[in-house]
Parts: sequence; C-alpha cells; structure tokens
Amino acid sequence: MGKFHRSVATSEPAMEYNDCIARMREEQYPMLAGTTYLDHAGTTPYSKKLMDRFSADMMGSLFGNPHSASHSSQHSTQMIDDTRLQLLRLFQADPEEFDVVFTANATAAIKLVIDAFRDQDGGFWYGYHVDSHTSLVGVREVANGHKCFESDQDVERWIEDGCEGAVKKAALFAYPAQSNMNGRRLPLRWSSQIRDTAGPPVYILLDAAALTSTSPLDLRNSDAAPDFTALSLYKIFGFPDLGALIVRKEAAHVFAKRAYFGGGTVEMVVCLKETWHAKKTASLHEQLEDGTLPVHSILALRVAMETHAELYGTLERVSRHTAILAERLYEGLRKLKHANRSAVAQIYKDETSNYSNSFTQGPIVAFNLRDSHGKWVSNTEVEKLASIKEIQLRVGGLCNPGGIATALHLEPWEMRDNFSAGQKCGGEHDILNGKPTGMIRASLGAMSTLGDVEKLLSFVDEFFVERMSIKPPVQVNGTRNAVQQLGWHVEALTVYPLKSCGGWQIPSDTAWDIRPEGLAWDREWCIVHQGTGVALSQKRYPRMALIRPHLDFKTGKLRITQADNATEVSVSLSLDPSYFDLTDLKSHTTQVCGDTIKTRIYTSPAITDFFTDALGVPCTLARFPTPTSTDPSTRHSKPQLSKPASTFGPSPLLLPNESPILAITRPSLNALNTYLKLHFLPAAPAAQFRANIILAQSSPAGSEVPWDEDTWRSFTIASDKGVEGASMDVLGGCRRCGMVCVDQTTGIRAEAGEPFVSLAKMRRVGGRVLFGVHCALRGTAGSVRVGQVVETTEGREEG
Ligand SMILES: *Cc1c(COP(=O)(O)O)cnc(C)c1O
Repeated sequence: MGKFHRSVATSEPAMEYNDCIARMREEQYPMLAGTTYLDHAGTTPYSKKLMDRFSADMMGSLFGNPHSASHSSQHSTQMIDDTRLQLLRLFQADPEEFDVVFTANATAAIKLVIDAFRDQDGGFWYGYHVDSHTSLVGVREVANGHKCFESDQDVERWIEDGCEGAVKKAALFAYPAQSNMNGRRLPLRWSSQIRDTAGPPVYILLDAAALTSTSPLDLRNSDAAPDFTALSLYKIFGFPDLGALIVRKEAAHVFAKRAYFGGGTVEMVVCLKETWHAKKTASLHEQLEDGTLPVHSILALRVAMETHAELYGTLERVSRHTAILAERLYEGLRKLKHANRSAVAQIYKDETSNYSNSFTQGPIVAFNLRDSHGKWVSNTEVEKLASIKEIQLRVGGLCNPGGIATALHLEPWEMRDNFSAGQKCGGEHDILNGKPTGMIRASLGAMSTLGDVEKLLSFVDEFFVERMSIKPPVQVNGTRNAVQQLGWHVEALTVYPLKSCGGWQIPSDTAWDIRPEGLAWDREWCIVHQGTGVALSQKRYPRMALIRPHLDFKTGKLRITQADNATEVSVSLSLDPSYFDLTDLKSHTTQVCGDTIKTRIYTSPAITDFFTDALGVPCTLARFPTPTSTDPSTRHSKPQLSKPASTFGPSPLLLPNESPILAITRPSLNALNTYLKLHFLPAAPAAQFRANIILAQSSPAGSEVPWDEDTWRSFTIASDKGVEGASMDVLGGCRRCGMVCVDQTTGIRAEAGEPFVSLAKMRRVGGRVLFGVHCALRGTAGSVRVGQVVETTEGREEG
C-alpha cells in the first residue's frame, strides 16, 4: 500500500486511478461498504490505516501534558512541534513566515481572529463575501461596521477604489476559498491585491475549510498569502476532529491586543494583592493556545498526514480525481430530461466557474429537481428516498445563507416569511410560495469513485425522470357512477395511545368518541428521551412498534406489553389525584415534532427500566397534558371506569405539527398491493400505514375505486343507535416517509425500502409521496363504530 501512489503515474488515465481508489477503498474504508456517501463537504471518512497506526502510536509511547520537563512531557512537546511544521509544509508555508495555531475546528480559528480584532482600540470594520459560511457571517455581529459583498465584481470594485470604508481603523476582509454550498472556488489573488491597495490596516481572513479537503493550497509566497487562514482538518483526513489557524507572522501583532490569557499562554500570574501577569512571547502559538493542547489529536494529525500521503500522494492528485468525478456528475445531471424534454435538475453553478477548471470549481454539485411541468420536487422527499436507497446527501440551507439567497433568488422578506412559516434548519416545509428554500448538495472526496457518481445519477433517473406524461390517477368530479357513490363504510378503527408505538384495535361493537384533537385515547402518552426530553419516534426507533398498549377499562389501567418478551407495566388511565397516586408523575418539557409541550413524566424505576430496556435508549413514559387535571369541574367527579370513551381522559392534544386523525382506504391499499405483486414484492399490510380509520368500499369486488380520497373535501360518518356519527374535514394527503417500511409485527425496517420505494414510483402527487388523508372533526363531538356507513363529498385537489 505504501507504494500505491508511486505506481500510479499522474499521466495515467483517470479510469485506472479510479479503479485503484475503488480497490483501495474496500480495504481502507470498510464503513463505506453498501452506502453511497456524498457528504464529504460535511466530513470525509478516515482510513483504516490512519486508525491502526494511530492506535499503535498511542499504545507504543507515553505522551504527557506538554509544558514540563518530564520525559513524557518532552516527548509530547517534540511531537507537537514536528506536527506543526509538517502541517505548514503541507501548504508549503515557510515556518519563518507563518505560524500555526491548533483550534477545535475552523469556526474556533475564525473566532480566535475575531477576538483579537474585537480587542483593537476603536473596534474593527468587517467585510465579507456573500458566499461565506455562516461561521463568517456571524462575525458582523461584533464588528463596528460591516459590509456584505454581493459578488466578486463587488469585491474587485472595492479594491480598485482603495478598499473604501475600511482603511481608517483595523479592518478585516473575509471570504471562503471555496463555497461550501456549490463548490465554487473564489480568487486567491485578492489577498495580495488588497495588501497592495490598502496595506496593514486591512487584513485578510481566508476560510479554507472547504477548499483544502480536496485541493492543495499554496502559501509559498507569503506576500501574496492571506494573513489568517482557517482550516478544518477533519474535512481533509476524516480524523482527528481538529482545526487550525495559519497566521502570517507579519500580521501576528494583531493578537498583541488580545486581553484574555489562560493556562498555557502565560508565563507568570500574580493574583494576590496585585493583578499582574507576563504573557508568553516566544511564539504566536504559545500566546494563543489557551489551556492544554489536544495532544492526542495532534498525534493523530501527524499520522493522518502521513497516511493520507501514502494513500493518495498529494492533495493535487485528490483535486484532479475529484474534479473528474464532479464533472461527470454535473454533466450527467444536466443531461437528464423528462419525456417532454424539460430538464430534471436545476444546478447551481456560477457562470464564472467551470467543472473542468479546478481553479474555479471544487467537487460539489448543488441542485434542485423539477417535475416535467417545471414544478419543484420537495427536497425532503428526495432526501427520504435517497436515505432509503443508502445515498447520503446534504439537503437544506447548507450553512450558507448568502449563497442560498442569491442562487434561489430569495429576498430577505421571503426568508423571514419562510422562517415564520416553519422553515427552520432541517424543516419539512422546503417549498414555499412555489420556490425551494434550500438545495440538495452532493460533495465528493478523496476516496469517492465513479461508482458513487453513477449511483446518484441512476437514483435521480429512476425516481425523478418522467418517462411518459403521467397524471396521478385522480377521479374527476362528477364522472363516477351511482354505485360508486354510495360505497363506503368504516372497516376498522385503531388508536395509538402511546405515540409512535403499537396500535390498539377498537373493538368492533364499541362506539368511540371523536374529538377535535382526534380519536379518544389516541396519542395520550409518548416516550421521551431522558436526556433531551425529545419524544421518540419509530422513524429512529423501529422497535417502538413492539411496544403494545392495551386500554383496560375494567381495571382503569393502560397496560403496556412487549411483543417479544413477557414483561409488562401499567399506569392509571385516570389523572384524577383523588383516585391515583401521582407522586410518580413529574412536570416536564417535551419536544414533540419540533414543538415544545408540557408533559408529565413517569419517574418510577419500574417504568423507566421497562422502556429503556425495550428500546435500548434511556427513556421513559410521558403523558400529555389533560384538561382533567386542571379543570375543577371534572377534577372531583369519579372516573367511570366502565365507559370506554373516557369521562376522565383524553386531552385536547396540543400537537400543532400533527393531524388529529389519519384515514386510509382499502381500495388504495389494494392498488398498492397489486403493484407490489406485479413487481414480485411482498404485500404491505394495512398496519404499516398506522391509520386511525380504514375505510372500505361496499361495492362488489372489481369495481372499487382506488385513490378516490385524493378528491375528498369531507366525509360524514352516519349516525345509528348509540353512535352519534361525525362530519370530518379532509385536511390533505398524508406525506409518507421510510417509516412505512417498518414491519409492525417485528419492529424491523425492510432493507429494500419497500413499500416506500414502490409508493414513491406509483404515487407521487405534487412531488410528495402520499398515502391516506389527514382529517379533523368538524364541530366539537362525535362518535364512530366499525361498520358505519360513510358518505364522501368531493371537491379537493391534491397538489
Ligand atoms: C465546514 C466549513 C466551516 C466550518 O468548519 P468547522 O470546522 O465546522 O468549524 C466553515 N467554512 C466553510 C467554508 C466550511 O466548509
């Protein structure tokens, strides 16, 4: 392996190099087996060689805390000095001209610079490029004046005008060497241009965190180099989690004003009677590295640089390989067309950059997808499908607010609107007012291969290219015949007393209360993580399906069992303090689907142990707030334990992100299962869709109409003896995710991503994978029983 890079001459065809990487990767990156990892701009994986050697070095030597005279301490000091030099050499930086300061990450390196500028007399002025990472944008909050440069021309004009506005006091101009959003590489000549124009009061901070992961950076000419260069070392090597700041010594005096000192950066401190201290002066890094250095991480860095060189040769070579892959990806996406010749991908490449020129473009492709009518495909949907297909992408705002706003033409008011509409980092509402609010980013790294690129291209081709003009099979108003008109009835009713856990089938002879917040006893409890207070979901913990609640009205208990063992716990259905011991319940703040809700958590060891053992994560049961515990009119009334629909129970469930009731129809399920059967795939049982109400058609077999629910505006459940009936408003289609792949009897997620993958192919409505409808009670009360007739009203269009 050590000779690997020497055996591949630089002139050798790219394919051969790619094949070498593919073979090497199998051995060196076992964690990449079976997955398509395309988030190298987030972080890249570490090699086996690095970890093996690091482990051997750790076990073979004793590394003490530096700054003392013992052998182990000296050993550390020496290793650190060597590593510092080696890191400078990686960027051809002369140690006479540059110093390197170790930091936690690139953001910490940036903050170190900013702290120094903040301590300048009169503060500082700050200019930054619109393509900056959030970590650079945030600096403006501590500057005395700031300007965002909206384009390269904007920067160049400013330089031509003598860096106007910046020269009176200390000033800092910051920009990324490569955009972490779309990989565009920005000109490196600005450092020397600004220095020539404005001189010392204006300093340059280069954020090289994204660039250096797949590109060399040449600091040979210190006159043309940035004053401060911030690095994320884990983005180059995968490990250690370390950053660095390379400082041009000519600019080091900026740090002289830094007020803070800590252990490690000071020679002597007097605390009693006087406050006097002598800061370290020998070298810049000694002045800036507060506290004990991350000795073992620095050791790992040394090993990382060695092993990276053995595996890849130079960063120059990494750059060439990744550029070839990125160009393939870009061209491949660009060429994807729908049947009507419209483009599938909108790619956010700058006009000035070019995938065949690595001075202008790094190996990142940022894009969005459109359907054949030009409508945007939801990124969340792409991400869900990608993750089922084991393709790992980055989706959303990408920590690059300026770049995103420019590329997506989002005005500040639109970004604020989007925010108030619930589009926060990682949110579901990724298309608002017909515009995407984020992007999909595929980024390549040193060990990426053509295979990865092909995987992504065929994924987009498989799921998002419309080969024929398909319309969702929606019934048009008024075309149905009379037989189909009167066909519906309630086939089954299920509640999920523990949110995201197993369902409890409502007995078919029992009339059940419907309330504005949903079916009685539905999502009355949830399971919360004991550390974070977040309500757990089957999406993350498929074993939750095995937790089975039983509503036992005879004893007034909710019994909870596990499908695969005999343990059981129970809690009182009632919250009435005069009947039940409440010492066990504690008030608690819980996060449910992004909303903060006051719950009460159960703290008894029997209960916490039961759930913690069942799911293998520290968690316990929590109960949502109920009116019974606060409303004096009901507090003292005795619970009527024989009545199912809770005189003593259910809450106006306060889950703004959840719909009250989910209904699915048997004909649609049959249609899905017919499709699955045609493709030799296992059938999907109704339970997998976790509906509250299953509606079936009473019409004879063969004449049933699938997807009829797409058109419903409302439906009415008929009244009958002992059943009040109910009018339900249909709120919209239920957007599905990989959770439908969890087998509700085994708690195991289907490896092939079925039936979600099939559903995505046969049932994408307006870019979303829909199955079933959300609905809510019209009015304040109603009830339902299995077998009741249902009449539907049309007039809704999904989309
Ligand atoms: C990743 C990244 C950062 C942040 O780096 P950290 O090491 O996470 O602090 C800053 N800027 C750019 C361009 C990046 O890609």
